[in-house]
Amino acid sequence: MILPSLLSAVCLSYSTPFVIPAETVNTLTEQISITREELLQQLVPFAQSLARPLISNYRVGVALLGKSGAIYLGVNLEFPGMPLNQTIHAEQFGVACARQHGETSLIAMAGSAAPCGHCRQFLNEVDDEGTLQIYVANTEGRTLPSLLPAAFGPKNLGLQDKFMIPLSLPSHPASLEERARIAALSSHAPYTLAKSGVALETEDGKVYTGSYLENAAFNPSLSPLHTALIALVADGQSYTSIQRAVLCEQRGAKISHEAVSCELLKQIAPGASFAKTMAIPEGTR
Ligand SMILES: [Zn+2]
Repeated sequence: MILPSLLSAVCLSYSTPFVIPAETVNTLTEQISITREELLQQLVPFAQSLARPLISNYRVGVALLGKSGAIYLGVNLEFPGMPLNQTIHAEQFGVACARQHGETSLIAMAGSAAPCGHCRQFLNEVDDEGTLQIYVANTEGRTLPSLLPAAFGPKNLGLQDKFMIPLSLPSHPASLEERARIAALSSHAPYTLAKSGVALETEDGKVYTGSYLENAAFNPSLSPLHTALIALVADGQSYTSIQRAVLCEQRGAKISHEAVSCELLKQIAPGASFAKTMAIPEGTR
């Protein structure tokens, strides 16, 4: 057993404690003679300490192992003043964080509690092969099909779009509007075809982007503001550091994130400006 304080110190030594590079994972597991899956489980209490459950005070933490060998932490984010369906669950945070760092497949996940039904449905969009090993409270790993039998998912709708894809990235310095447009192009929106992205600029000049992540059951979807906030929190920033926000949506789309995004920003970053562009042409796939 590694001292939790040692693991915390290792994680906190990086620019973002939410991402542990593959080389470090290898070094840790070799030096301490534990498996990567055991390391995942030992990271869970540290992940819980990073949660921001401002309504429930119930801290949820997960640690996800990607195919690259890197580990990503996830935490729950709750937003006072907003409906509960705006909550970001730890599993959603961890998956979005892994996707934002270029991960294209997930191998294993450990969590402080069993994934709720909402998260099992969210994971069903991600784990298209049903091979993700899920560990809860030091129990044996279980697959998602065993936790979500008789599931409804993308295959029921005849869709093959992969959730974990390499993201589009700007090849040169780009405006906030352009960063939001590029983030929109990396959306997973096979059900509405409404690509959407958000770019947030903080007071220190950093930019965080988020892509819309849609779910076959609709409700577990993550808005582009949600995924941008995950990137911001994973970098240790406060919500009030946001100064500008740009939402990019698709012309002729059946849905819009504008009203809810505007309201959520007002609650968490009242000083931030908000603008919307429609830079994705109708019919873009
Ligand atoms: Zn959940």
